Amino acid sequence: MAVKINENYLLMKSNYIFSEINQRVDRYQNENPDADIIRMGIGDVTRPLPRAVVEKFKEAVDEMSKNDSFRGYGPEQGYDFLIDEIIKHDYEPRGIKLSNDEVFISDGAKCDTGNIQEIFGLENTVAVTDPVYPVYVDSNVMAGRTGPMGDDGRYQNLVYIPCTEDNEFVPELPESSVDLIYLCYPNNPTGTALNKEQLAVWVDYAIENNSIILFDAAYEAYIREENIPHSIYEIRGAREVAIEFRSFSKNAGFTGTRCAYTVVPKELKGFDEEGRPHSLNNLWNRRQTTKFNGVSYPIQVAASAVFSPEGQEEIQESVEYYMKNASIIRESLDNLGLKIYGGVNSPYIWIKTPGEMDSWQFFDLLLNEAHVVGTPGVGFGPSGEGYLRLTAFNTLENTKEAMERMSKLSI
Ligand code: PLP
Repeated sequence: MAVKINENYLLMKSNYIFSEINQRVDRYQNENPDADIIRMGIGDVTRPLPRAVVEKFKEAVDEMSKNDSFRGYGPEQGYDFLIDEIIKHDYEPRGIKLSNDEVFISDGAKCDTGNIQEIFGLENTVAVTDPVYPVYVDSNVMAGRTGPMGDDGRYQNLVYIPCTEDNEFVPELPESSVDLIYLCYPNNPTGTALNKEQLAVWVDYAIENNSIILFDAAYEAYIREENIPHSIYEIRGAREVAIEFRSFSKNAGFTGTRCAYTVVPKELKGFDEEGRPHSLNNLWNRRQTTKFNGVSYPIQVAASAVFSPEGQEEIQESVEYYMKNASIIRESLDNLGLKIYGGVNSPYIWIKTPGEMDSWQFFDLLLNEAHVVGTPGVGFGPSGEGYLRLTAFNTLENTKEAMERMSKLSI
């Protein structure tokens, strides 16, 4: 008998979009070798690690080279020196109390948002906003929670919550009850944010329906406006219903270095077949200690330098740099008469395609006429059709150049 595969993997569709983008860009570049293509599609940062971070990183690497300061396996949940800083700087100033064993250090919010579904039963109904960061969907497809994709581009057993200009990108409560709800704010891909009242609607829903919210706050550092919650725990009752994911990727440039964390409050409960409650914090701890051996010591030292005064200053500078790009993009596209969303509390700008163009037609127009690469909105879900995402993560020079070229488009 031959080895059987996990056939749920065969149900996945969404990688197609990114290979299709690469193919189209490569083809265009081959046919037009002189075209200077500016990539504004990817969500990776471009500015280097802060100096304060690199200094501590190097010191910690040196420690690893000496007998008396070498460290082997660390705690799977992360070192207290980093967890202390996270609680002190990211939560206490907002009136949120956390204990150290509610914070789990990891090598990425992508891994954590993908892995978290393992601690939940397969029979749970999962809701995602549409468009959505694809990891939430695909990790549930792999687990067998979604069933196949229908002709409408939606997985049959997944609940999609459309976020479009019709509802001003504010997700509406589902008609039927759902168990697990993925929310990402500030949002990738739409770049929009929820204010406290809007997020409270979801926390209240979760309390009433015994649901759990999986709240991805990877872009928290980009929040500029008052009344936009930085953490879901700013909302009353959220400790009983929400897990929060944070990352050092987008604020401090750790996309290649890898460090993030997940907060699982002790109040959170899931239930077994007999209706007995179980601590989700215990389950996640069990999962992590079984399958994960911690983030390396030098990287955790480097991440703790993010909270030093110098680190904070440098991070602020980088975030301002990207947000200046975002405002340049917003202003230029607005002048061009395009309808744009996001880019105020996030580094993503979500553009409504002009006229009757679909996402791919607008993508092709930008590539062919302006040599600018965006991401077709339809790649993030059916409700992303008719939109395109640009990111503010390129250099200021490239961003200005891209906007200059786009200003000459006849649309
Ligand atoms: N969550 C969202 C919404 C993202 O857009 C991304 C990266 O693009 C991540 C998580 C990944 O974060 P990390 O680099 O910590 O894995």
